[in-house]
Amino acid sequence: MKHLLRELPPIHELQHSVQFDDLRTRLGQTPEQITKAIQQVINDIRYVLVNGMMEEQITSQNLPDYIWAQTEQKLIQLERDRITNVINATGTVLHTNLGRARLSEKAIEHVVKVAGQYSNLEYNVEEGKRGSRHDILEEMLVEVTGAEAAMIVNNNAAAVYLVLRALAKEKEVIVSRGQLVEIGGSFRVSSIMEESGAHLVEVGTTNKTHLYDYENAITEDTGMILKVHTSNFKTIGFTQTVESEALVELTQKSEGVIFYEDLGSGSIFDFREAGIGEEPVVREVIESGVDLVSFSGDKLLGGPQAGIIVGKKVLIDRLKKHQLARVLRVDKMTFAALEKTLLAYITGHARQELPTLRDILKPLDEIEAQCSQFITTLEPYQEIYDVEMVESTSQIGGGTMPDVHIPTFVVAVTHRHYTAKQLAEKIRLGQPAIIARIKDEKVLLDFRTISKDEMDQVGTVFIELAKD
Ligand SMILES: *Cc1c(COP(=O)(O)O)cnc(C)c1O
Repeated sequence: MKHLLRELPPIHELQHSVQFDDLRTRLGQTPEQITKAIQQVINDIRYVLVNGMMEEQITSQNLPDYIWAQTEQKLIQLERDRITNVINATGTVLHTNLGRARLSEKAIEHVVKVAGQYSNLEYNVEEGKRGSRHDILEEMLVEVTGAEAAMIVNNNAAAVYLVLRALAKEKEVIVSRGQLVEIGGSFRVSSIMEESGAHLVEVGTTNKTHLYDYENAITEDTGMILKVHTSNFKTIGFTQTVESEALVELTQKSEGVIFYEDLGSGSIFDFREAGIGEEPVVREVIESGVDLVSFSGDKLLGGPQAGIIVGKKVLIDRLKKHQLARVLRVDKMTFAALEKTLLAYITGHARQELPTLRDILKPLDEIEAQCSQFITTLEPYQEIYDVEMVESTSQIGGGTMPDVHIPTFVVAVTHRHYTAKQLAEKIRLGQPAIIARIKDEKVLLDFRTISKDEMDQVGTVFIELAKD
């Protein structure tokens, strides 16, 4: 096919053809954009021809059509969404790769409103002067956690960094060896500590740390005891951790030593009452006397990405005044989403309004009904699909409650012509993408994390595949 190289038309010729004008009117794109796309297409074609990689049957006759079709594809690609929604069929509610918590309807509405207009982000309307964004949601956070004061930063990793940097730089910070965790491959307590300029003092062993380990480690240089919620793994068997209460007592006896707990998830809703996990609620941790607590906004709280720091007012005030507070500050859209998320807790509607809570607490019969509905949808395609509803378990995710497996129902799907891996890939490349698990050569769809609104879309992706 190399002879085609000589037949590639010059760009200026293509620019003056009717197809060029046709693309302009149909796609509404500028001549510059179209020219750029044509150049890329010609370069691509030249490359595959030179390397003998052309898969299509291209002849001198259909070459121009091929160029225009490829150009149109490129231009359409240019306008596609880079970040877009996917269907989470994994059953993992707080899937870090899939954006963690979904926002509530009210949170979304509020974000849209605040994003499109001017707001009082840093303006005190009553007094007609500059205000502080740190004050906007503080009262609400104080109300839901019972803490004296609160502050919001970009995410919980930022919260940990700020606390260490502002309050323990060049001081010793005591951490139990069993809590030196790495979360999601990118957040490592020891690395953040090093970045912050605080000096890590490890105590105890991987499986056991006693109160006397902490006591013996306290020196004149100790600035803080940090307790990290070991949220994404669980040491089982012969283990011992020191309760927060004991550490509160110890730090109160030790002049100038702050007790800070990185809770990771930080739940406001008590999942234990629903029989799920042993996660303490933030209020309890505060009541135990911990000086500072931080947690994520988009984990069990069910809100936007944020790092929430609550605790003693003297300490929070120091954090707000630190230069890094400016670096780590959050956007108005985050405040808007967080406001309505917190309001759901204050008004007692969190269980109904917040998708994260709804998904975790989704009744089994609802999941079962969705499974049945999907199976019915695929009934006309029995030649292609084998489907079966089976019992399984869902996970919370986001490094939260790793040992908790919530009972669920999944639909196990096999395709007559594809392996499970191929089927999973096909639905992943569907519109919208469906992300599912594979087990025992079957694709598993967990309807815990698929909302009722998404049922039709899931059905359509599978029906389209059946027609291939
Ligand atoms: C998730 C987690 C973090 C990081 O929080 P992000 O909001 O993802 O930055 C830090 N510490 C613990 C214990 C966590 O579980």
